[in-house]
Amino acid sequence: MVAADTARPLVGVLALQGGVEEHIAVLESLGAETRRVRLPKDLDGLDGIILPGGESSAIDKLARSFGVAEPLRRAVEGGLPVLATCAGLIYSARELENPAPGQQTLGLIDVTVRRNAFGNQRFSEERIVPVAMQGQWPDVETSEVGPRRTESRDTETNGEGPGSITLDIEASFIRAPIVTRVGEGVEVIATVPAPAPDTVTGGAAGEDSAACKDGAEHDGELTHPSAGHEVIVGVRQGHVTALSFHPEENGDSRLHAAWLASFAH
Ligand code: GLN
Repeated sequence: MVAADTARPLVGVLALQGGVEEHIAVLESLGAETRRVRLPKDLDGLDGIILPGGESSAIDKLARSFGVAEPLRRAVEGGLPVLATCAGLIYSARELENPAPGQQTLGLIDVTVRRNAFGNQRFSEERIVPVAMQGQWPDVETSEVGPRRTESRDTETNGEGPGSITLDIEASFIRAPIVTRVGEGVEVIATVPAPAPDTVTGGAAGEDSAACKDGAEHDGELTHPSAGHEVIVGVRQGHVTALSFHPEENGDSRLHAAWLASFAH
């Protein structure tokens, strides 16, 4: 729980498509107030917003038809803190290597993203990923986390800035994107070794992951990074934090807690 003397932050989750309820559950377990965001008026008074995973081209189309895309972009430009996961990272990017036909993004963070970079369709896996989160130590109970999950307080000496923390997160990669270019002012906060090409699989179309709820069309392109290299799976530019993977799937709330602690005082 957040500290008793901390006002409850009001956090929106863009609720057009995808893994909305998982984020709502984690936020509520941390004592945040939540709101599903579908319309421009839902942005009023938010302290932060989560752009969830799902299918980024569907989220884009729906956001434009609900008239929320441009108000959302302006709210973030005006300082609204963002946590974007998977399709949310894609939707936040300035540029996509392989957009779906007509797909637009919000351009909140100066990166280029490759969709479905770990393999097309149903490819997914879990890994422990060290993620450098910003800000103060989250005031949360961490005793429920398993023994494999460790955490460290970093100091000024590691170049991540005072008070940054590294959390080892059990992350689900579900048709995950990677970041292939970072612009000036974008910090890399998480990398993983690229998967070996022979682990990259295509799957049967139409069998959607429950986590991903990825029901829209695909570009059919099978791209993967070469094995042995680190690929970028987490970035931050100012108040926008974006991750390739799902940190909300495994009952570990520390990443959300750290994100909340970075703006909710
Ligand atoms: N591949 C999906 C997309 O392009 C993202 C997958 C996810 O959010 N788990 O939007």
